[in-house]
Amino acid sequence: MSELVLLKNIHDPNAHQIATYEGSGGYQGLRLALRDFSPDEVIDEVKSANLRGRGGAGFPTGLKWGFVPKDSPLPRYLCCNADEGEPGTFKDRILMERDPHQLIEGMVIAAYAIGCRTAYLYIRGEYQLSIDHCQQAIDEAHARGYLGPDILGSGHGLDIHIHKGAGAYICGEETALLESIEGRRGQPKLKPPFPAVAGLYECPTVVNNVETLACLPHLFRRGSEWFAAIGPDHSPGPKLFGLSGQVKRPGVYEMPMGLSLGELLEEHGGGALNGQFKAAIPGGVSAPMFPRSEFDVKMDFGSLAAAGSMLGSAGVIGLDETASIPVVARRITEFFSHESCGKCTPCREGLTWAAKILRRIEAGQGQPGDVEQLEMLCGGIFGNSFCALGDGAAWALGATVKHFRPEFDALIPAQAQAG
Ligand code: NAD
Ligand code: SF4
Repeated sequence: MSELVLLKNIHDPNAHQIATYEGSGGYQGLRLALRDFSPDEVIDEVKSANLRGRGGAGFPTGLKWGFVPKDSPLPRYLCCNADEGEPGTFKDRILMERDPHQLIEGMVIAAYAIGCRTAYLYIRGEYQLSIDHCQQAIDEAHARGYLGPDILGSGHGLDIHIHKGAGAYICGEETALLESIEGRRGQPKLKPPFPAVAGLYECPTVVNNVETLACLPHLFRRGSEWFAAIGPDHSPGPKLFGLSGQVKRPGVYEMPMGLSLGELLEEHGGGALNGQFKAAIPGGVSAPMFPRSEFDVKMDFGSLAAAGSMLGSAGVIGLDETASIPVVARRITEFFSHESCGKCTPCREGLTWAAKILRRIEAGQGQPGDVEQLEMLCGGIFGNSFCALGDGAAWALGATVKHFRPEFDALIPAQAQAG
């Protein structure tokens, strides 16, 4: 069993309190960053560690920070994306509920690197305990001088404001999230310009995920070499995986990337609830599922991309022999159709149509050609959607139909007879 870093303290019932956090080395990383590193050197250290974003895209964090223009007279903002809405994903919730000072410390380090004095923590509205514990952590950090106008006498100042989401999945998309903070309807905006250049209030803005920021205190306390040595070269550092679905031991697990999907589900998740696994979704429902025959795929950014899926939010959903794949596909497609913001036609209309076809297939009223129609729709939505919601939904559905075509055919009376 590898050393726990991010989850080390979560079973301590007082871990969310600052005294406990400081007692286990908390805020030492911030002290070192402020004392020994200039803001540019902080960015270089994060680049050396090769910390990649944990929200879904795996974009290099130091590179993103480096895109913030140095000569801009505008204020810079940091927004922590804690609108964790991807089905099967609940890792950030654990961090915020159980050990929120890790996140607050990470936000102060990130803000120092990019020259930001006002930061926002955008938390999913349903996560009330996360909101309460993060607010308490912010208040405690202020009282101890880790937040405020002159942090630990460094001259660097920061205030963090919590913004509560209102239940829209699309507000986890970074430009929609920024629109939402500004008080507008949460809908994605065209990129470029990327938020790093023109984000909140058209000012340079870095949007980072909770787990990404929570890595920073450890990275600065123990150094970029320590961080880079954990796991595969291209996907280093501690990583959280959420296990759910038909697994015996669901929960949040921390381990280096690079282990196989099968190991994660069988050894850590305890195996399938009923019989054997049939399939698994590796990174939230936007990520194409794998049939059991492909469970040797490695759980890291590069390996999953090469195998035709993605690590995404690392929310792993196991599906056992009792699962009906067409029913799973219908539920996921209905979710995306419901959460579509409606801005662009391929996603809005295409997903509604796909959900309708899936409902009739499930009801035993499918018609010959329905599966081809689904494939045609996925092809029309993917690559033609304005944001990752439409693309992800079509990508995942297309792969599901491809891997499990016989299950769909078997529910369509005319096809089943022909087969
Ligand atoms: P993306 O690849 O468009 O961007 C990733 C990040 O890098 C963004 O912050 C973007 O601004 C930045 N970036 C990329 N190129 C840049 C450039 N040239 N200059 C400056 N910045 C640049 O991906 P995305 O749409 O932000 O995220 C998609 C992922 O989100 C999906 O893979 C999905 O897994 C994940 N997701 C996660 C959740 C969750 O609950 N955690 C929910 C929905 C989706
Ligand atoms: Fe909205 Fe869907 Fe278009 Fe994204 S792809 S902008 S969610 S309609």
